[in-house]
Parts: sequence; C-alpha cells; structure tokens
Amino acid sequence: MRRSLLTWYAHNGRTLPWRGETDPYKIWISEIMLQQTQVKTVIPYYQRWLEQFPTIAALAAADQQQVLKCWEGLGYYARCRNLHKAAQQIVQHHGGQLPLQLSEVLKLPGIGRTTAGGILSAVANQPLAILDGNVKRVLARLTALPMPPGRAIAPLWALSERLIDPDQGRDFNQGIMDLGATLCTPKQPACLLCPWRSPCQAFTHTLQDQLPMRETSAPLPHKNIGVAVIHNPQGEILIDRRNESGLLGGLWEFPGGKLEAGETIPACIEREIREELAIDIEVGEHLITLDHAYSHFRVTLNVHYCRHLSGEPQPLESQEVRWVAIADLDQYPFPKANSKIIAAILAHPPTPSQAPKDRVE
Ligand code: SF4
Repeated sequence: MRRSLLTWYAHNGRTLPWRGETDPYKIWISEIMLQQTQVKTVIPYYQRWLEQFPTIAALAAADQQQVLKCWEGLGYYARCRNLHKAAQQIVQHHGGQLPLQLSEVLKLPGIGRTTAGGILSAVANQPLAILDGNVKRVLARLTALPMPPGRAIAPLWALSERLIDPDQGRDFNQGIMDLGATLCTPKQPACLLCPWRSPCQAFTHTLQDQLPMRETSAPLPHKNIGVAVIHNPQGEILIDRRNESGLLGGLWEFPGGKLEAGETIPACIEREIREELAIDIEVGEHLITLDHAYSHFRVTLNVHYCRHLSGEPQPLESQEVRWVAIADLDQYPFPKANSKIIAAILAHPPTPSQAPKDRVE
C-alpha cells in the first residue's frame, strides 16, 4: 500500500506553493491556514502573509491588529492569535527557529498532533502520522468503518501510524492528503483511479457513497442580533474591539447584542448599547439585515443607524471603543459578516442630523 500510494503521488501529487518548501516557518503557516480551510482559499492568504511577515521574528514583532487584519476573512481567528503568540514564544525560547522535536512543537499554541505531524514530516521527513479530515475519510472507507470517524479516533490514529512509510514520511503524508482531496472526495470518489482500490473495503462492497458514516446532528441554534451603527455629529462611527478570549477575539465590530423574548429590535439595540457602552442613543432607520453561519450557530444581524445622544462610550464588555471616520473603517480587522455592513455604510453614509431611510435588504 505504501509503494502504490507513493508511486501514485509521484505522478499525481498537487503542485502547491508550499510543496518542496524547506523553510519550517512557511510550512507551519500553510499547515495552520489549511486547518478547516480549502487550498484555493488559502493560497492568496499564504502569499500575502509571507510578504507581510517574511520571518518568525517579523511576525513576533508585529502588532496583533496588523496580524488579524492580514487574516481577515479566513475565519477561525484563534488560529491567527495562536500563530502570533507562538511566534513570540519561538523568538523567546528557541532563538527564532521553529523547533523540530515533536514534544517541543506540541507545546506551541495552536499546534496539535496532526499539525505537528504535517510540519515535521514535510520539513524533516519525520515518519509522524497525521489524521486530518481527508485522512479520516480515506481510512474510514479503506476499513469500511462501521461508525462515524469521530467515535473511532484512537483506532484511526493507530492505523495512520501503521501505514506511514518509515523512510518517506513526507511523501506518504502528502500522498494520503492528496488522495483524500482529489480522488477520495466526500462525494463521488474516483475509485477507478485510486491506487488503494484493491484493499479498500468500501470499494469492494460498493459502500463508498455511504461512508464515512455521519453523526446525526441537531440543527444549528439561531440568534437574532440587534446591531448599532452609531454616528456622532462629526460623521464618525463607533466601533468596539471584542475581548481577547472567545469567538472572534481581538476583532473590531459594531456594538449590539442578542434580542430577548418579546423585545423589538430598536429596544434591544438601545438596551444593549446602554449595557455595553453606557451611552444613550436614538435608534434610527434600518440599514441592512444579514444572515451568517458560524460553526456552531447561525445569526441574523439586524443593523440600524443610531444617533449618539449623550455619555462618553465605555468599553464595559469589550477591550476598547473608538470613534472612526468612515473612510478609515477598512483599516481595522472585522469579522467577515461585518464587511457587508461596511459596504452598506459606504454606499449610504449617515447624515449627522438625520439617519437615512430604509436602505439595503
Ligand atoms: S477506492 Fe475509492 S473509496 Fe476506497 S480509498 Fe480509493 S477513492 Fe476512496
């Protein structure tokens, strides 16, 4: 199986910007970006990132806002904050060089067993197994796993370790990842081209379309959010920076919060702004309504223009608040859902004395 995979990979492996790369920093960046994100989305971010932060030292010395801005739109922002923290630890404890011992790599924030195996096999050809989403799917089909992969993590790790080539860890891992990404795809796997079709139990028993088995998942919970685009007489907009811990930590956003039972959107916005920022506002016209899905819930953002009436904004539930000129909004890292709010503001800026009429649906 090793030989057939390696032969297939030698002829069919994907050409990717980080393939053949020996700089551990570049491999590390690619591995982190590829967690939960597809290759075609990652490539422009990877190139931009290396232009802006060409070395671990440059990343460690950068301001967190700059780093988050460069990651903006890629999602799962904890990955970005951890990269930044890890770079600072590497400069402090490892002389600015990514350590190449598994135990040391695993101590860095944001690096688990699969990422460590991916980095060390690619950089130093170490025979360290990996178990990302692609590999789980391939192994579940190979063995006709009679349960969802999430319930068989230990045996799947054991199988990945048993399969890896002791002398060609790099090509084996990249081969199995490419097999999962290009042939053993979630839908309609191309089994007739697959180097593993003869040992594959799913192929033998025509179970490819039913495997891997899925967990039955409950529908995602939904939150209705009132969002305020608060403007002052100078035409500036009030934004706040989310607390460091938790979802979207460190990013900027337009303040607001969750609608309570029986509450109208304007009442929700007024209450939230008093609780979060200790100011009084007048809720004006509706600007835009947006739906957005995160990994564990969905939100509907009901955005209104609001006029600042009184009080100095306080960051009671955030790190920082700031009045910003509309033209400067794009200097700040915002969550992806907020980019449409910014586009709506730019298309229909508020007038200081009067909020605009209904805008964009
Ligand atoms: S034979 Fe088909 S199902 Fe089995 S590993 Fe290959 S592509 Fe996947």
